[in-house]
Amino acid sequence: MVTASFRKVLCVLYDDPVAGFPPVYAREEIPTLTHYPDGQTLPSPAARDFTPGHLLGSVSGGLGLERFLTERGCRFVVTSDKDGPDSVFERELPDADIVISQPFWPGYLTAERIEKAPRLKLAITAGIGSDHVDLRSAIDRGITVCEVTWCNSVSVAEHAVMQMLALVRDYIPQYGWVVRGGWKIADAVSRSYDIEGMDVGVVAAGRIGLGVLRRMKPFDVNLHYTDRHRLSADVEQELGLTFHESVESLVSVCDVVSIHCPLHAETEHIFNDELIGRMKRGSYIVNTARGKICDRDAIVRALESGQLAGYAGDVWFPQPPPNDHPWRTMPNHAMTPHTSGTSLSAQARYAAGVREILECWFDGRAIREEYLIVQGGALAGTGAHSYSEGDATGGSEEAARFTTG
Ligand code: NAD
Repeated sequence: MVTASFRKVLCVLYDDPVAGFPPVYAREEIPTLTHYPDGQTLPSPAARDFTPGHLLGSVSGGLGLERFLTERGCRFVVTSDKDGPDSVFERELPDADIVISQPFWPGYLTAERIEKAPRLKLAITAGIGSDHVDLRSAIDRGITVCEVTWCNSVSVAEHAVMQMLALVRDYIPQYGWVVRGGWKIADAVSRSYDIEGMDVGVVAAGRIGLGVLRRMKPFDVNLHYTDRHRLSADVEQELGLTFHESVESLVSVCDVVSIHCPLHAETEHIFNDELIGRMKRGSYIVNTARGKICDRDAIVRALESGQLAGYAGDVWFPQPPPNDHPWRTMPNHAMTPHTSGTSLSAQARYAAGVREILECWFDGRAIREEYLIVQGGALAGTGAHSYSEGDATGGSEEAARFTTG
């Protein structure tokens, strides 16, 4: 067993609840799953020092890793103070061996930060989506980057379906009328439609995108997708899918587009004025993938002009977004903070997955191939399938402008 050379594990998590930790839980337990939709088994660490369904993703939750890491002789530093040169994250980085971060409150590992961390060998994403790591620098430095593939893919698919329906049926303003008082039905329905019969498309049909297609099938919509890997003819036939060679082709025929590709050099800002201009007037976009896949100001312009009838999602750039980020106030949006992949159910899976990865690393066993993004100086595993080499962290320093006013 190898432990002596692994001294410091630096972990960035979001803040505890404003009302204190732990919260009062709404339910006693969460369902026990045995495998994911494609048959992959759930994370299988040797042990778990947490109760599934509890808040693990905030600082005091610590992903349930404290005892395990202490017993392995590691110093475990957990912080939410992650942005700017004086942050705890940046101060603790120079002698960190392992960094654990997550996409909801990302500890951005830019080239400059990687440069300041000569001991860093392993960057674990507690979740899915490792765009907050400069993958180019990780490749050059021989750092292993991995994530907990599948851990929250279904969580996000559920959230995306919820947001499609919220936009098309115009749920949020209707709820607003109830809370405000009154009974203004004409006002409440003046932007409300059925999704039945609409053309609904996903950009990328990986674990989440395919999950969205499967969930939308019973709504009797026409389903479309584009991806750099085409699905099997059986799946296309089962779901009645129309495949598009390009995103341009897909968006030109769809009423609702849901984005599910990772953020990497090829996908940064693909939803710009030009692409949105190819959509039908009054289309909807749901983006639970990454904020930077969309051009921030192009989205605002399209909502203001009516080119888009609505925009929803839960991903922003940077995170946290400054309080004057225009997506907080643009018209006809149904945004959430980055929550889709960090339900209490998902947290139990990614906490167990991170522990499994650490056990493998410490014991010199191979990390599951599907968890790998970068290894041995190249994209690997899911990274080779779903990402391209490069860096998508540019501009992340703007997160330091966030204030909790
Ligand atoms: P996945 O690896 O199963 O699927 C990604 C798909 O994207 C693959 O099918 C791949 O071929 C496709 N793709 C990659 N680049 C493309 C391109 N340029 N054009 C077309 N298709 C392309 O991953 P997943 O589990 O479905 O997750 C997808 C992304 O969703 C993650 O990378 C992450 O950014 C995001 N995500 C968000 C949350 C959240 O909480 N909001 C949680 C999990 C994942």
